[in-house]
Amino acid sequence: MHTPRLTRQCSRCGRARPFASSDRFRVNAQARRLDVWLIYRCETCESTFNLTVHTRVSPASLGATVERYHQNDPELAWDVAFDARLIGGAGSVEEVPFRVEIPPAKAPFAVRLGFERPFRARLDRVLMAGLGMSHSRLAALVESGRIVTADRRALRRSAAPGQVVYIADDPTMPGL
Ligand SMILES: [Zn+2]
Repeated sequence: MHTPRLTRQCSRCGRARPFASSDRFRVNAQARRLDVWLIYRCETCESTFNLTVHTRVSPASLGATVERYHQNDPELAWDVAFDARLIGGAGSVEEVPFRVEIPPAKAPFAVRLGFERPFRARLDRVLMAGLGMSHSRLAALVESGRIVTADRRALRRSAAPGQVVYIADDPTMPGL
């Protein structure tokens, strides 16, 4: 597991390259205001790029988080690296590998999606991973009403926290 890489122009390489988070912050204090960045490195030439986290904020407004930036708190570095609001404009965001856990249950049951960290993945990919099936099988089960989503197009859109999917029949049963 790793944080999403950001592909952007690298000035030293002279072309677009993936940059990976170093999990380290840079904090700059000036006139009682703080600038905070998360440092990324070009995977090819190690050039750095600083992702803006805060610009000219008062330390008081950050509270105890200031110390976590200074100490390169890894949990905080991951929160930033998955924050769509911060990384969205900095480059094209890689889709990261993910793991889906569905507790054992007997059909019929409903699955409510929860995310450990926010990330983008299509609902069909999440269900394929969670139920361990191919795309064509998933599509057939949805078509026949054995797996029910909000509407047909939901499968092709990003999975959302809190989204509910109904499993009407045991999808692992042969012959379904
Ligand atoms: Zn480079």
